Amino acid sequence: MANQKAKVLEEKCKACGLCIHFCPAKCIAYNEKKFNSKGVHPALVEKEKCIGCRQCYLVCPEIAIEIFEE
Ligand code: SF4
Ligand code: SF4
Repeated sequence: MANQKAKVLEEKCKACGLCIHFCPAKCIAYNEKKFNSKGVHPALVEKEKCIGCRQCYLVCPEIAIEIFEE
């Protein structure tokens, strides 16, 4: 069965931190190595730890999170 995982669309992220706060697996952090065109460090999902719960997807005000199957 395919696993669901979350992925951040980096250019849409405004680094509000909501997804980081609500992720029960604590697998989202800012990517300190990158700036997007909004001038912020976009959120990044540590895929191996993601349990596909969709919390981040539901709370993101920018619709910057995608859920995909792998
Ligand atoms: S789907 Fe759930 S576990 Fe995965 S990054 Fe989003 S909040 Fe975290
Ligand atoms: S909730 Fe959305 S806009 Fe806010 S940090 Fe997460 S991905 Fe970025």
